[in-house]
Amino acid sequence: MFSIVIPCYNEEPILHRFHKEITTILQENQILYELVFVNDGSRDRTLEILKEITKKDQHAHYVSFSRNFGKESAMLAGLNFSSGEAVIIMDADLQHPPFLIPQMVQAYRDGYDQVITKRSRKGESGIRTLFAKLYYRLMNGMIDVMLTDGVGDFRLLSRRAVDALLSLQEYNRFSKGLFSWIGFREYVIEYENVLRDEGKSKWSFGQLVNYALDGLLSFNNQPLRLAIYMGMFVTFSDIIYVFYTFIQILIHGVVIPGYFTIIASIGFLGGIQLISIGVIGEYIGRIYYESKRRPHYIIDEKVIQPQYVREKQKKKEWMYHK
Ligand code: UDP
Ligand code: MG
Repeated sequence: MFSIVIPCYNEEPILHRFHKEITTILQENQILYELVFVNDGSRDRTLEILKEITKKDQHAHYVSFSRNFGKESAMLAGLNFSSGEAVIIMDADLQHPPFLIPQMVQAYRDGYDQVITKRSRKGESGIRTLFAKLYYRLMNGMIDVMLTDGVGDFRLLSRRAVDALLSLQEYNRFSKGLFSWIGFREYVIEYENVLRDEGKSKWSFGQLVNYALDGLLSFNNQPLRLAIYMGMFVTFSDIIYVFYTFIQILIHGVVIPGYFTIIASIGFLGGIQLISIGVIGEYIGRIYYESKRRPHYIIDEKVIQPQYVREKQKKKEWMYHK
């Protein structure tokens, strides 16, 4: 049995269509399944629609958050509540084409633990593509896990991959990095980018920048190191400069000191110090969040069809919502 995990945030216009399309694909291919919808504090009628769906469809469950906790938390909740031998995570907006599922299931049966889908960037704004390209190039040079452009959260994970992911209980979750961190054999399926039909993307440009920074900061301490190197470089150059000027003064006497150089060096040093403080602050902020050990989400209500509840799941629930 396969679990499909679907994070939903204000997906009212498309949910019924999504449910119909995914059900058709799964049944046509005789794949046993359950659908785990996670309502991430939507402000529209998403929850009502999920109630209707779970009332009519014995394969569908939902978990509803008390507020918007973000997609990372929604995916985590979905994984916690799924009971299949493998889990497929996908978006509700049909940008992750359901027709790829049979192929993914086949790859899983061939023995792959992670089946990843990779989209082209067709139809996306030029600027977003450019930034994405730059970002991946930069990131892969700097962090200790490998990220691939166009690979999103649409993927299949075997049970042991899911358990590995769930064993990572960090508060700042950057799934792209976590997926890569757990390892296992991967299989990649490529597909053409699909544009959103209904509803709109929940990511503003600012949020994308924040997401990019999260990735950088959660997966290594290079920025911290960089600040140290920069500090060392500046101090060393400064020592040479002082030494050089001192000898000049010994030979030629005091020359009128350059106003410009003083201002320039004050500015430069100030800048470097600010950067370093910022970097350190980021990490301390992260330590602060981790040390609180807060749960990743709070559940307001849920419907799990009785035939899917497992003993193990009850225990897990206790673990994550105490
Ligand atoms: N989503 C979520 N919580 C959020 C934002 C998004 O659960 O705070 C869900 C959303 O409902 C969708 C998926 O995450 O199923 C991807 O969101 P979106 O389509 O807005 O992102 P994009 O495709 O533009 O990257
Ligand atoms: Mg989308």
